[in-house]
Amino acid sequence: MHLADASSEQLKAFAESLEKQYSELKAENLNLDLTRGKPSSDQLDLSNGLDSILAGDFSNQSNTDVRNYGGLDGLPEAKALFAQMIDCPAEDVVIGGNASLSLMYFSVMFALHVGFGELGAPWAAKGEKIKFICPVPGYDRHFSICEQFNIEMIPVAMNNDGPDMDEVERLIAADASIRGIWCVPRFSNPSGIVYSEATVSRIAKLANIAGENFRVFWDNAYAVHSIDENAAALSSISAAAKAAGTEDSIYQFGSTSKITFAGAGVAFVAMSAANRKAFTKAMGIFTIGPDKVNQLRHVRFLKDLDGINALMKKHAALLKPRFDIVLDSLARELQDSTQESSSNAGEYGEWTAPEGGYFISFDSQPGLAKTIVGMASELGVKLTPAGATFPYGNDPKDQNIRIAPSVPSLDEISKAMEVFVCCVKLATVRQKLTS
Ligand code: PMP
Repeated sequence: MHLADASSEQLKAFAESLEKQYSELKAENLNLDLTRGKPSSDQLDLSNGLDSILAGDFSNQSNTDVRNYGGLDGLPEAKALFAQMIDCPAEDVVIGGNASLSLMYFSVMFALHVGFGELGAPWAAKGEKIKFICPVPGYDRHFSICEQFNIEMIPVAMNNDGPDMDEVERLIAADASIRGIWCVPRFSNPSGIVYSEATVSRIAKLANIAGENFRVFWDNAYAVHSIDENAAALSSISAAAKAAGTEDSIYQFGSTSKITFAGAGVAFVAMSAANRKAFTKAMGIFTIGPDKVNQLRHVRFLKDLDGINALMKKHAALLKPRFDIVLDSLARELQDSTQESSSNAGEYGEWTAPEGGYFISFDSQPGLAKTIVGMASELGVKLTPAGATFPYGNDPKDQNIRIAPSVPSLDEISKAMEVFVCCVKLATVRQKLTS
């Protein structure tokens, strides 16, 4: 039925049938979870070979005993491996612990309070309020880091090719206290979009119009995480920054959290030589050295970019059917038959159909996201809290919902989607009836 053409009697009858379906689903006492983007146990099993691969051989290619302290910036072979993954020079890579998020937290703290050595004083030196551009919807944990350090967040809309760059450039040129931007350039969290080459090039040039020591926080968490084998590639920000003469403005982050073990992977950051000088000095105070045993395990297990890509194909084989269930369900139940069949939109909202990553982003009609998430929770389906994809948890239009289908079984996802579309429809029809 088309809601726009329906009489109020038809809408009431439709609402009643949806209320009935809602009650029936409630009686099923479900307990399903579509919240965090983490690998399923089947995906983790793909890397169980890590466990025994060292087999008592703890020497790397240059005969370092990786069990001991030292090697602050990482094993050379691990740097080479991860540099291939994010398309940057190997010498730029500094390897950390198991979580890129810790490196991001450290980098923000470092930039604010420690300073950039020969590149300049810390952001906080003059006591001014520091601001970051936050493309929205975005990753809640980036926003939490900003909140932790009292950095003011300025939301900017995401388009299909990345953040709205006209707006980003306008804001940055007008306000020197904007010192950073968060970017998830490939299979963005949560929209799944891939930044275009033009966007990458414009982001690389931002430092030329920004205040002192502006930094791009390039969180390439999903660099090799295609679900579709023809997924769009990402152009190299290192190359774009080199062309623009802005290498010092780029911090690139990555990890193997969703390649091998989410809780026991290897994380890294890549930055220019001038940045590394001050950064590794601070790292050397923070730690005597990272876990090189884990780095060596990863090098032996993954080998090279071909090894990583072969493993990622196995992940994709587990993830694709899960994404397909979500997308098929949204298309079947919510797509507007008057729209072109390729359009992921209808009277109930619109959604993304990503070619990789861990998420599908759904925008309901304005004002309904909190209601829908609450209704789904009442039926036993947990969704990421509405608002989480915006700074300060504030989605001004209350419409974005992040769907993360990697963990539940195929049957569980089907059931969770039955609940989800029922809640979306019922909330939308109720809104129509009261407006
Ligand atoms: N960045 C993004 C965009 C993510 O989605 C995630 C995981 N949800 C992370 C970073 C966390 O990565 P790590 O495990 O390396 O800390």
